[in-house]
Amino acid sequence: MSHTPNHLSFSQLVFQGSLVLVSSADHTVPADFHAISGKDHCVVSRGTAPVHPHDEIQWVEVETTFTPTEEYVFLNPRVLFPSLNAVDFAALGRALQIMDFRRTNAFCGRCGGATKQSTTEEARVCHHCKSTLYPVIAPAIIVGIERDGKILLARGSQHPAGRFSVLAGFVEPGETLEQAVIREVHEEVSIDIKEIKYFGSQPWPFPHSLMVGFTAKWASGEIVIDGNEIAHADWFDASSMPNIPPSHSISGRIIEHFLKHYPQPS
Ligand SMILES: [Zn+2]
Repeated sequence: MSHTPNHLSFSQLVFQGSLVLVSSADHTVPADFHAISGKDHCVVSRGTAPVHPHDEIQWVEVETTFTPTEEYVFLNPRVLFPSLNAVDFAALGRALQIMDFRRTNAFCGRCGGATKQSTTEEARVCHHCKSTLYPVIAPAIIVGIERDGKILLARGSQHPAGRFSVLAGFVEPGETLEQAVIREVHEEVSIDIKEIKYFGSQPWPFPHSLMVGFTAKWASGEIVIDGNEIAHADWFDASSMPNIPPSHSISGRIIEHFLKHYPQPS
């Protein structure tokens, strides 16, 4: 994500449920509306949203019965993550999240009345009780902890076999981000930390997270894994890195940042 271009490389997307239509020849190239030309009767919904810094993304959602021609295939957008740059990935995520928000909030959670799209903002307004519903964004913290030139990496019980990463978890109601970092680390590996510093963030639209990255230093305690979310955790130096996430993910960037500061085992 270091070379961030200013413009999108695509401006249209075709969704089916939460899958996105891509070229069969190159799974990293999203299909535009040509892929559904003459198939307007299959379109369930349409949307448009501005994309940072000055682009616009348009999308359509097609019926589950729609079958694309051989040139195209529907894929889980997660698969595109490694090959899309930050601007393209953000646009895909924005379209996906707004589409999902609109279709899952057709009815009011408070009174059950039908909602309609606000004309002034990205929101749904209830016809009946006038409640305004906004897209949900669920913040999650992710933290790289350093101790004597080593970084704490853990293998989650859900992770691909052998893949180690930094610790992460969802923020709970009423918590600050820093409190969430301290709590998650204590819950998962039983240690206490200090010098918690903001690192950066990354939207993770599966379905609607925002990863907020931190670095921290070990303060006290020895690793005791929770045995539930975490299968294994240990301190690793530059000479003993296990299989880690790629550098386009925020976890990969946090580990890369550690390796830059501690290139040699101490
Ligand atoms: Zn209502």
